[in-house]
Amino acid sequence: MNVKNCRNCRRLFNYVMGPILCPACREEMEEKFQIVKKYVQENVRTGIHEVAEACEVDTAQLRQWVREERLIFAEPSLAGIGCEKCGKLIQSGKFCEACKKEMTDGFSQVLKSGAAPAPVKKKTVDRDSPRMRYLDRPDGGR
Ligand SMILES: [Zn+2]
Ligand SMILES: [Zn+2]
Repeated sequence: MNVKNCRNCRRLFNYVMGPILCPACREEMEEKFQIVKKYVQENVRTGIHEVAEACEVDTAQLRQWVREERLIFAEPSLAGIGCEKCGKLIQSGKFCEACKKEMTDGFSQVLKSGAAPAPVKKKTVDRDSPRMRYLDRPDGGR
């Protein structure tokens, strides 16, 4: 048997899996989550700190739910969490779309070659290239 201290109330309980919370706290947390989820849905312009205050939840807990993709804010800036790879603000999960794509691409390359990944040619976005300048022009380059 695996006995642990509940992370929230410090009571001893038989730990099975998931977050280290006793059944009572887990239930409480789940209720809290439903409140938070509803609040975020009804107040789409609200940021993580306002939600924490309004629902009396720790921002760390809110961030964890966002990381688990259980909680999604309307705007990346509202959640206030960054991609674990490049630091770009994201709405939920751990990585931004670009990094996710990069990782999937790298992964499928490994699958295709069936061996160690070949050195990936770095696709750097050259902001000064004539093509980019053309695309950046608001008038479409005339
Ligand atoms: Zn507890
Ligand atoms: Zn990223």
